[in-house]
Amino acid sequence: MDKSNLLSVDDDSTLVGGPKELSHLLSEAPHRRKSTILSDADMYKIMECPVCTKSMYPPIQQCPSGHALCSNCKMKVNNKCPVCKKEIGNIRCLVLEKFAVSLLLPCSNHTLGCQEMLPYYGKEKHESQCIFRPYSCPSPGSECSVMGDLPTLLAHLRVSHRVDIQTGSSFSHCYVKQDPCSVADVSWTLSLFNCFNQYFCLHFEAFSLGTEPVYMAFLRFIGEESEARKYGYCLEVGGNGRKLTWHGIPRSIRTHHRSVRDSHDGLIIQRSLALYFSKGDGKELKLRVSGKIWKEDS
Ligand SMILES: [Zn+2]
Ligand SMILES: [Zn+2]
Ligand SMILES: [Zn+2]
Ligand SMILES: [Zn+2]
Repeated sequence: MDKSNLLSVDDDSTLVGGPKELSHLLSEAPHRRKSTILSDADMYKIMECPVCTKSMYPPIQQCPSGHALCSNCKMKVNNKCPVCKKEIGNIRCLVLEKFAVSLLLPCSNHTLGCQEMLPYYGKEKHESQCIFRPYSCPSPGSECSVMGDLPTLLAHLRVSHRVDIQTGSSFSHCYVKQDPCSVADVSWTLSLFNCFNQYFCLHFEAFSLGTEPVYMAFLRFIGEESEARKYGYCLEVGGNGRKLTWHGIPRSIRTHHRSVRDSHDGLIIQRSLALYFSKGDGKELKLRVSGKIWKEDS
């Protein structure tokens, strides 16, 4: 983890035409030393674009004085160097591009447990799929931007969204809506279950499918997709001697609840049927959704 990158420097040599960031860092090194140890953070800083502050990728551009930036950002600053204001021509900074090849950096999720050391050019791809990357809050409520590891997320759901966590693999939930004719896109409920040492969330949402208002229930697994596939679940809703059932595989919370909804991967109940199940006079929606989660053996 504490790997440092070693860069040899000759006392008498000067960097001519090289990237400023590099020469600046090197000039800070104590004199009369043959080598300088730069930390991973220093290395990463060298590769940071001064405009967008993200890592630079080829083709990296530089101004006549050697300040580097990404080629997209060059357009953003109208070809004027953001540091020295000189006109940026079309000088490619091959030194930095090659320098980056030699870098081995820790995954940005290392504080969350990822032990991987990654080549610079493979870092972004790994991080976009890293299983340690933080999860987004699974609550369907709009605008919740909370992200974190699983313990953080569970605590957040309990405290901020006041979601109760039930223990056990069987459940039965009653959804009541006084005015089912005003089905809004945003109406939803979330319940949390703890079984098999894992956490699952049951979604119940009302939305319009074409012109028809529908209700949908589905289960998501609080963890990775590969783990989610090890479980199965069923849902059941009925009334007046009729019954609808659904057998499915929970989806990981890595998949947005809207994607699950849009792919119809769950129990869908048409409103007319939902009202029929409710047994009332059509003025109130009263659905009892029961279900069970199990672990597939393999
Ligand atoms: Zn940039
Ligand atoms: Zn410049
Ligand atoms: Zn990682
Ligand atoms: Zn949230």
